[in-house]
Parts: sequence; structure tokens; C-alpha cells
Amino acid sequence: MDKHVYVGVDVGGTTVKLAFIQGTGEILNKWEIPTDLSNKGNNILKQIADTIAEKMNEYGVPSDSLKAVGVGAPGFIDVTNGSIIEAVNIGWRDFPLKEVLEKETNLPVFIDNDANLAAAGEMWKGAGEGAKNLLAVTLGTGVGGGILAGGEIIHGESGMAGEIGHITSVASGGAPCNCGKTGCLETVASATGIARLGIEAIKEKRYGLLQDTFEKKETLTAKDILDAAKKEDPLANQVVKQAMSYLGFALANLANALNPQTIVIGGGVSKAGIFLVDLLETEFKKYTIPKIGEDTKIRIATLGNDAGVIGAAWLAKQNTNG
Ligand code: ZN
Repeated sequence: MDKHVYVGVDVGGTTVKLAFIQGTGEILNKWEIPTDLSNKGNNILKQIADTIAEKMNEYGVPSDSLKAVGVGAPGFIDVTNGSIIEAVNIGWRDFPLKEVLEKETNLPVFIDNDANLAAAGEMWKGAGEGAKNLLAVTLGTGVGGGILAGGEIIHGESGMAGEIGHITSVASGGAPCNCGKTGCLETVASATGIARLGIEAIKEKRYGLLQDTFEKKETLTAKDILDAAKKEDPLANQVVKQAMSYLGFALANLANALNPQTIVIGGGVSKAGIFLVDLLETEFKKYTIPKIGEDTKIRIATLGNDAGVIGAAWLAKQNTNG
């Protein structure tokens, strides 16, 4: 029995999520604190060290059981030296996170990108449990991604691997993307992208359930469109199918290259559940090599907001041979 405890930390622009997690991956305690964005994010690590110490007392976690801290952070990260190259949301730039937090906590600290760690969390304890080759895609405001091969996070040469959202030209004549290109997957398969496709469609052909909603709200959300599609509204269905066709195309090409066991779909859009998976699977199989299409499982993420802290604990455990 593994008695070691790891601290999983998931730093976001609004909150920092934390958890004490057993070596088996079970969460013992979890909590969150508001992210202190003042002073260019320089107070956050002290904040993290203080809350860990406080909660160890409160929950009775003996200090000799704590092995290491894993941290997921947004932005570009140099995993070799544990520093943040840039995290715009937080204000960090060339920020030596590992070094500073190790001093503050007296524990070994390991860091990685938050999307990679959410993928690792799903691999360890979520929808991809047991998979060593896994692709995770988060359909939220944008499209995030993480790739694990042979049980390891793929970082690539500059730590940029997994930018699934910027697979480009999936939509011809597509919309401009935050990255400076047009027609990226993110512009059509994120919640924002699906909403945009829906609004375009309703402006062109005014009918059905979406028309009623659009008249009331003068806008549409991805949820409006997915809900209407579930009720078999033809226009909403067409929009969701179109988005899943783009996503299926991009994921199929990734799968052809990586041959994952499981593709995990997370983020707000994934709340549409099995309905979405069915549509995606049909589109996905149009573009995969047949054997890959048959073998790849597409699953909805199961860990929700806990994926990041669980993945962070996994990272800490991996690196301390726990
Ligand atoms: Zn882009």
C-alpha cells in the first residue's frame, strides 16, 4: 500500500485548485483559493505554500507522508528547468516556478502545462484509465489538447506539442483565429466556434428551434445549439454535424499518425455526452485508416475539474518514483 501523498495544484486565471492525492490516485482532500493576480503573479506561490501548510494541519496530513508537489499551469512552460516562459493570464514571464515553490514548500516540485496534465489525469484515473496512448481534447472557449504516448506526455522540441486547436484549414475560408491564422479547428469546434456557426446558419435560414431562441436572446450559445440538436431540430443538427465533421477530420488525422487507444473529449461542449460522441465517431471513421477507426475508443472525460489536480499528482509521482 502506497502511503505517500502528493499535492496536485492546478493554477488558473481565476482560481488555484489544490488536492492531497494518494499514490493510488484517490483524492483525499481538495479545495481551491482565488488566484492572487496582483504583483504580476508574484504572490501566488507563497499563497500556494501557505494554503498547503494550513490544510495539512486542518486535514491531519503528516508532513513525512508528503512526497512531492505537481503543478499544472497555463501558457508556455520549459519542463526541463521548471520555469514558465510565458503565462499571459497570470502575468508570469520567465518565471522560475519550480525553484521558488521548492523553497517555499521544502518539497520537490514538478510542473507541466495544464492541458497536458488534464490529459494525464484522464489517463490515470478518468475516461482513459489504463490507456498508455491517449489523446485528450478540451472543447471550451478554445480547443486545448494533450497527447500521451507510451504513458508519457509528448512535449515536442519546444514544449509546444498538443496544440490540437490550431490544426488549420479544417474549414475552408474559415474565421480568423487568435493565433493569427484562419480556419483553425478552434474556430469551428470550440464552444465559441459552434456558437458562431449556429449564428451564421440562423442568419441565413431562419427556422426551427434556434430561430425562437435567437429572437429572444439575439444570440446563440453552443449549449442552445446542442440542446436543439438533441431535440432533432434540423438546422441545429446540421450545425453540430458540421462542427463534428471538422473535429472528426482533425482527430482522424492525428489518430492515423499516433494510433491512440482512447481519445478523451472534455470541456463544456462535451457535456452534450454520448449524442456528441456518436456524431463524432461517424465523422472520425470517414477519415481514419479502417483498423485505426475500429480500434480507437472515443470517450467523454469523466474527471471534470479534478483532471488537472489528479494529473499534477501523477506528474509528481512519476518523477519521484513513488
Ligand atoms: Zn489558430
